[in-house]
Amino acid sequence: MIEFKQVSKIYKGGKIAVEDLSFSIEEGEFICFIGTSGSGKTTTMRMINRMTEPTSGTILINDEDIHKENAVTLRRKIGYVIQNVGLLPHLTIGENITLVPQLLNVEKEKRQAIAKKMIALVDLPEEMLARYPHELSGGQQQRIGVIRALAADQKVILMDEPFGALDPITRDTLQDLVKDLQVRLGKTIVFVTHDMDEALKLASRIAIMSEGKIIQFDTPDNILRHPANAFVEELLGADRLLQTKPDITTVGQVMLAHAVSITPEKSLAQAISLMREKRVDTLLVVDEAQVLKGFIDIESIDAKRKTATSVGDILNTQVFYVQQSALLRDTLQRILKRGVKYVPVTDSKKRLVGILTRSSLVDIVYDVIFGEEETLQEAAANQEATPGITEVLK
Ligand code: ADP
Ligand code: MG
Repeated sequence: MIEFKQVSKIYKGGKIAVEDLSFSIEEGEFICFIGTSGSGKTTTMRMINRMTEPTSGTILINDEDIHKENAVTLRRKIGYVIQNVGLLPHLTIGENITLVPQLLNVEKEKRQAIAKKMIALVDLPEEMLARYPHELSGGQQQRIGVIRALAADQKVILMDEPFGALDPITRDTLQDLVKDLQVRLGKTIVFVTHDMDEALKLASRIAIMSEGKIIQFDTPDNILRHPANAFVEELLGADRLLQTKPDITTVGQVMLAHAVSITPEKSLAQAISLMREKRVDTLLVVDEAQVLKGFIDIESIDAKRKTATSVGDILNTQVFYVQQSALLRDTLQRILKRGVKYVPVTDSKKRLVGILTRSSLVDIVYDVIFGEEETLQEAAANQEATPGITEVLK
């Protein structure tokens, strides 16, 4: 329905706002553009209704080049919602809602019918149609802005961070409203946001922008599963992977309860045979009371085999550990940051109670993203197609 072909916009002064964009949007889609400030989202959106003219390239709507059409006619066919609503203060709410139908010469009775229908859709009283914008709360005004955009018989609606200035509860309600109306009225919406939660909630597909380019354009599901690069991963945020699993809160709930450990007085030969038996390359070292002292690994055994005899001789005391009561979310971030393969888990007296391995975290993360059915083996088989996730945890 909307197609960009190698579209670039260079502002006067040489600023490249968007560069060589090619993509298409189907009828009935809800597209969210997301990216950092200055990445070109608004510019891209405003080129759709020719409020900004591209420097090069072609934009088609229903296979027609929009530059061959009168810009005003085009604009009236496309709804537009911005952050500060833009209700006209001297017009009643009813007149505001039917502004575009009026411009399109829809007769008065029909317009009134539209206004009544629209205000009912958003659960505001019909009497409100006779009021003026300043008599309404900010949230109510924004609702009117949304239905005004939906009231005209426009198939395409552009929304530029429409809810950015609202409090979280109002924003949440309006998101539900827009999504519901979009589906019910069969609109195509192009929506700019810098809030990933908003994009994931609303979009049928998300376009991720950075420095004037689209980095990834895919469904929320696919973006979560296969983030295109580190920038997208960062935008998603590691903790998001756990947000949908609120019941898993502490490390103790997900750790493996059988960390392989050894005491300091044991010989290196004993350590090696324990490693072979348990198929591990690291052993946690604890005293008789199970208090964590450090670790040894196969490299340090190899390096110091000639001079050392006991585990205690090669003990590495620089060990990063977490308490079982720690929040899993924080721990995941710390593991990601430090790049460690595992983390010993202790109780409040530093006694070893378990271990959190990268692979167990991978399990949890996959579980969150893919649901219960897909096992780690299946996920591993798909690994080639899911580089983002495995990289995060490598
Ligand atoms: P976003 O909406 O993603 O924050 P914009 O599309 O508004 O980004 O801007 C993209 C880039 O183009 C920014 O670097 C911005 O400073 C620049 N830009 C936007 N509008 C103009 C303008 N009218 N003149 C010059 N540069 C502009
Ligand atoms: Mg913008």
